[in-house]
Amino acid sequence: MWRAFSNALPTLDNLWHKKVVDDPSCTRCGKKWEFVEHALFGCKAARQVWADSSFCSFIYNRRNHHLQDVLLSMAGLFNPDELGQACMLIWAVWEDRNSFVNTGKAKEPESVVARANVMLEEFKDSVQVFSPPPPIPTFRSPSDWLAPPPGQLKLNTCAAFNRISKGVGVGATIRDSKGMVLAVRSNRILGSFSKVIGHLLALREGLMLAIRLRLQGELGGDFSKY
Ligand SMILES: [Zn+2]
Repeated sequence: MWRAFSNALPTLDNLWHKKVVDDPSCTRCGKKWEFVEHALFGCKAARQVWADSSFCSFIYNRRNHHLQDVLLSMAGLFNPDELGQACMLIWAVWEDRNSFVNTGKAKEPESVVARANVMLEEFKDSVQVFSPPPPIPTFRSPSDWLAPPPGQLKLNTCAAFNRISKGVGVGATIRDSKGMVLAVRSNRILGSFSKVIGHLLALREGLMLAIRLRLQGELGGDFSKY
């Protein structure tokens, strides 16, 4: 997933930029350049897989978004189980794409979804068997999140740093007193940033979201952890 987020997957577009291949056109449909978003979401073969999953409308509504925005939206909207399913499905779509490129054969969409589910269950089992007891959560765990009082909203922001491509992915989520997500905004900003600046950029993203929604309120937070 990190390679996908960093646009480091060997898509034909990336290989074309590195002069490894002469033609960046998608091998499966031949209609579009094979950007990472096309390989994972936009290609007809990928769309058929997502259509067979519970994320069909989520992906369809973001079909023109950058991958980083899709992943940040997933992180903001999905519970841990849903996030695990979606990430494993992305992996299975990429595996199916590789299978087609290397052998000319591809699975049926329902087989790709089933493969993702099997791999997710195997992953959960392996984590239970081999992992030590989880540490007591101290930061960003769901139990840490405190809902605002009734009638008020809370803005949370996050930043994910990419040392390879020198960029930071920033995201912001606004929830109500019941924890319901009301709005999400994400962006990718290129450049080398310190952690403090990265989190301030995420905060700026959140404030822009609040301004766009014409929200008013007090600004507070704990920056000591940065
Ligand atoms: Zn295609």
